[in-house]
Amino acid sequence: MRIVLLGAPGSGKGTQAALLKEHYSIPHISTGVLLREAVANATPLGQQAKAIMDRGELVPDDVMLNLIRERLAQSDVASGYILDGYPRNLSQAEALEQVLKELDLPVEEAVLIEVDADMVVERIAKRAAEEGRSDDTEEVVRNRMRVYEEQTAPVAGFYAEHGVLTRILGEGTIDEVQHRIRGALEQGNLA
Ligand code: ADP
Repeated sequence: MRIVLLGAPGSGKGTQAALLKEHYSIPHISTGVLLREAVANATPLGQQAKAIMDRGELVPDDVMLNLIRERLAQSDVASGYILDGYPRNLSQAEALEQVLKELDLPVEEAVLIEVDADMVVERIAKRAAEEGRSDDTEEVVRNRMRVYEEQTAPVAGFYAEHGVLTRILGEGTIDEVQHRIRGALEQGNLA
């Protein structure tokens, strides 16, 4: 199963991706996690990315393409993947399509998790209290939401044009949302 998860910051993408990974035994590839690891390890990538992430902006496309290309070259991806946080703009979507074509591992389903903007703000405030992410302050969250609306939301249209977009309601409990996602994936005969 080869899936791209789309949704605003705080839509629950990461949580749902982790559950899908367990259920289908396929890798969960989160560019946010990869970048935060690079920052924690103070690698050259991490040093370059930190200030950008702390402003809620996007790390440059060429940097992200190298990162995702390297991750997708690993052998576990042959069993499938759940991409979370990539692609985040149309140019990344096009670059990804090319990389996946070369690997003969095209996206089968793009799942857009839709939530109300007020709920997102509430969830992120809760996460800020629990995890202390340096980009979860109110001002930076507002910027991440703006970047999402302007740059990432059009990616759903890209996958819709390719005939692989499914929209899922992201409200309710974690289990309810998971159930909806699996239902949609299995209806598409991907499981
Ligand atoms: P969220 O889903 O809450 O927006 P992520 O963990 O996916 O958070 O990403 C955190 C930050 O990492 C982003 O705000 C951005 O700075 C950077 N980032 C993650 N993925 C990408 C990407 N594909 N392109 C550019 N920047 C990215």
